[in-house]
Amino acid sequence: MIFALLKRKGKRNHDLLSVVSQSYLRGEDRGVKKAILMAVELRTMVLGHFLVISLALNAGLLYRNYCGGEHKSQNIFSFKSECKNSSSASTMAFLETNFQPSKPALSEVIDLDHGDPTMYERYWQQTGDRTTVVIPGWKFISYFSDVRSLCWFLEPEFASSVVRLHKLVGNAATDGRYIVVGTGSTQLFQAALYAVSPPNASEPISVVSAAPFYSSYPQITDFLRSGLYKWAGDARKFKRDAPYIELVTSPNNPDGLSRVAVVNRDRGVLVHDLAYYWPQYTPISSPPADHDIMLFTVSKSTGHAGTRLGWALVKDKETARKMTEFIVLTSIGVSKESQLRAAKILQVISDSHEQRGIFDEGEAFFEHKYHHMARRWKQLRAAVEKSKLFRLPEFPHGKCEFSGRTFALQPAFAWLKCEGDTEDCEAFLRGHKVLTRSGKHFGESTRHVRISMLPRDEVFDQFTERLASITSLPLPSPSST
Ligand code: PMP
Repeated sequence: MIFALLKRKGKRNHDLLSVVSQSYLRGEDRGVKKAILMAVELRTMVLGHFLVISLALNAGLLYRNYCGGEHKSQNIFSFKSECKNSSSASTMAFLETNFQPSKPALSEVIDLDHGDPTMYERYWQQTGDRTTVVIPGWKFISYFSDVRSLCWFLEPEFASSVVRLHKLVGNAATDGRYIVVGTGSTQLFQAALYAVSPPNASEPISVVSAAPFYSSYPQITDFLRSGLYKWAGDARKFKRDAPYIELVTSPNNPDGLSRVAVVNRDRGVLVHDLAYYWPQYTPISSPPADHDIMLFTVSKSTGHAGTRLGWALVKDKETARKMTEFIVLTSIGVSKESQLRAAKILQVISDSHEQRGIFDEGEAFFEHKYHHMARRWKQLRAAVEKSKLFRLPEFPHGKCEFSGRTFALQPAFAWLKCEGDTEDCEAFLRGHKVLTRSGKHFGESTRHVRISMLPRDEVFDQFTERLASITSLPLPSPSST
């Protein structure tokens, strides 16, 4: 509203001024010019008043929502005194419980291109103050967290909550490991490449991953045209007798399958990206994963992608030291506020499983999210079945040592294939206002797309509804017949 007014105001004044200047050029009477200039001033004043009124109205509306109380026109700018009556706790509760994203209309674009984990929002909303972190102004002034630690910017509280969670879930060995914290596992991935690349080789070391691979790997690897490493594509096609780094993503992004290394030759270094190795997506097997370098992130485990926090479990001291060096040189450490927040979130997850007196059965994080993912996959398969134009992978079952349940994978992404003559599945779905990521970005064919399974419930419901309603292919264009 304010911006619209400003825009209109600007345009009108411009029109009037051009009238004035034109009449001046035409040498019209001075009195006429004066009158016109006065009219301009008057108009500016009137519009200025409109602007003030508009600001006041907007502020009033905001105020009414914010305080959740009666609108009192005589006091609309005094947030402080008015909100005093409604406690800050109730304001928080209001903000938390009234944030209800609206359901997208049929005509709206549904964006499932990015793996934005907003599905998790509601769970965390329901935990209320249990996960609130208050940080006083004096805290975290220093660059340092623990100078005795190899990774000296790692907050001890975050480190201990990471170890506690892995021990609870049993998905990764932590004893005798170095923990390196990073701004998302995106930074740790780069730190790992830097740390394991030979520093004085005559050519950059090859970086490979079996297709379909996470679409960011080639982009990140080649972004700065490093002299240390370069992207060499699909690991299954890597035939050179030379050193290499293989990225093993398990469960895999985009297709959700469990993975093991495929090159298996001398002079290879493995980096395991275990972003999705959590019991809401896949059965956790025994013993815990025990690889040399394992990368994790809160983005896909707890859903806190915006916190930008990941951690690496590293066996070798020198590798951990070099990864730390990379992070020091790129960002002089990692936000302590983020670490503290993530520590709290991880602790609450562990509590939700270990303190059954305080948390209800249904509130245990991984249980809740396991059922959430199971419902989504059921719903998606039903939509695909109804449409008949798409195909989804079938997943093997496995026993989960964490939950004791036997179940099939329920990945964070659906790797969907268009059946029939549809060569470009991404374009086909875009035609139906569903945005996905084409298989070509993952080293696969354009018949595949990757679809995020982690949007908010409203969006996911709308997506499956729309997918089920797509029952016919577009007519072939005259040129393609
Ligand atoms: N690895 C994989 C396999 C991922 O899918 C993602 C997120 N899409 C990342 C790493 C990056 O995670 P982060 O948000 O922690 O940078």
